[in-house]
Amino acid sequence: MAKPKPPVQPGDSFELTVTGLSHTGDGVGKTEGGFAVFIPLALPGEKVRVKVTKVKKTYAHAGLEEVLKASPDRVEAHCPVFEACGGCQLQHLAYPAQLDRKRRQVEDAFKRLGGLDHVRVLPVLGMEEPWYYRNKAQVPFGRGREGTVAGFYAAGSHQIVEFDQCMIQQLPNDRTIQRVKKLAIELDIPPYDEKSHRGVLRHVLVRTGTNTGEVMVVLVTNGAYLPSHKRLVTRLREEIPGLTSIVQNIHTKRSNVVLGQENRVLWGKPVIVDTIGDIRFVISPHSFFQVNPVQTKILYDQVKKAAALTGKETVIDAYCGIGTIGLYLARDAAQVLGVESIPQAVEDARVNAEANGIEHASFEAGKAEEIMPRWAEKGIRPEVIVVDPPRKGCDPEFLIACTNMSPDRLVYVSCNPATLARDAAFLVERGYRTEEVQPVDMFPHTNHVECVTVFHPA
Ligand code: SAH
Repeated sequence: MAKPKPPVQPGDSFELTVTGLSHTGDGVGKTEGGFAVFIPLALPGEKVRVKVTKVKKTYAHAGLEEVLKASPDRVEAHCPVFEACGGCQLQHLAYPAQLDRKRRQVEDAFKRLGGLDHVRVLPVLGMEEPWYYRNKAQVPFGRGREGTVAGFYAAGSHQIVEFDQCMIQQLPNDRTIQRVKKLAIELDIPPYDEKSHRGVLRHVLVRTGTNTGEVMVVLVTNGAYLPSHKRLVTRLREEIPGLTSIVQNIHTKRSNVVLGQENRVLWGKPVIVDTIGDIRFVISPHSFFQVNPVQTKILYDQVKKAAALTGKETVIDAYCGIGTIGLYLARDAAQVLGVESIPQAVEDARVNAEANGIEHASFEAGKAEEIMPRWAEKGIRPEVIVVDPPRKGCDPEFLIACTNMSPDRLVYVSCNPATLARDAAFLVERGYRTEEVQPVDMFPHTNHVECVTVFHPA
């Protein structure tokens, strides 16, 4: 039997009413025949003219040709490269509307993916000044027609989009990237070429300690050889205010992962220091540290509120990174136990505990889904468990170990509403309940949203 032909073809151009926004921030509409079309840069409620670019079995992608009737929430994007760059997805949507949309996205995930219709999703806690917030930039280098280029990838591709100033990066990050780029050209440091796997400079990672002013530069190189590295170090030290650390990271694999395993300190400290509240943190190049410091404080205060500590509790901080949440809560707890898979981050967590004079916190390296069942078997019974997994959420083995420990409160911090809703449904099946979710906008102008939810025994 012949396959049914999709009702649209690449190149087709037609008018459409946009009815929704996908989780990646694309406008979504349907053709008269009910075929779904995804249109980047189109907004719900708009009437648009689109041109089909790609057709799949059940949906198509299209480019926005013309907005025939604009949404009242449409605004002019501030950034000149917004449409080309894949870094932000929502600059064309007014900030209050972005927050509203993120709230509804979480609500939708709980209903559709979790089957938890009763859960109330509170208004998203947004930023007063939703610009120049990121403390970390990871910028790929490559070779363009006119030589070295550095910028962010275009959406869904590895084409580098250059920028003079990124409107969601803190200014020292921008300045540092532009300096490194200028010096790489001046000192003839060849950029890496993904196709041939040749060249030297792959990525530059910059981290700024927002509250300390410290700046770390990590030069990711395709091998140990970094030409002119002495001159590069001297010039960077002269030209970058606040610079405290220059690290070379050696990464010889063909891979989309930014960092390789090996770090060599070229100058200064191997770590950078920043603070959240009155706790100091050292951060290694490989360690996770929340990228929006203003909102991190708000997020962690929500965790603190949900944990409702009295000083007597044992707290487990699972997926603890450099111990941030556990140490933030430690003064109100009897004991903190952290688990984290990256050994370097666990080292940082231990150093951080000591540097802050916190003696009742300990950290173990390993996978949460392996360590937690072991802790449960050993009879560890925390009153409070905090979990903050990566986007893929928690492993069922881990959640089973959590409920076996029967904590009074399980505080779930999530950067992905879909896996949060899935894991929430699992926890509900295993005798826990939740009433509310508090989203926090850690990533203005992007399609990401962070949530805090607390579970109690049902
Ligand atoms: N709570 C920390 C880190 C959260 S990010 C903070 O707020 O800063 C998630 C962390 O989970 C990362 O540090 C990552 O390295 C770690 N991780 C990822 N998979 C893991 C696993 N299976 N077991 C333990 N930790 C894991």
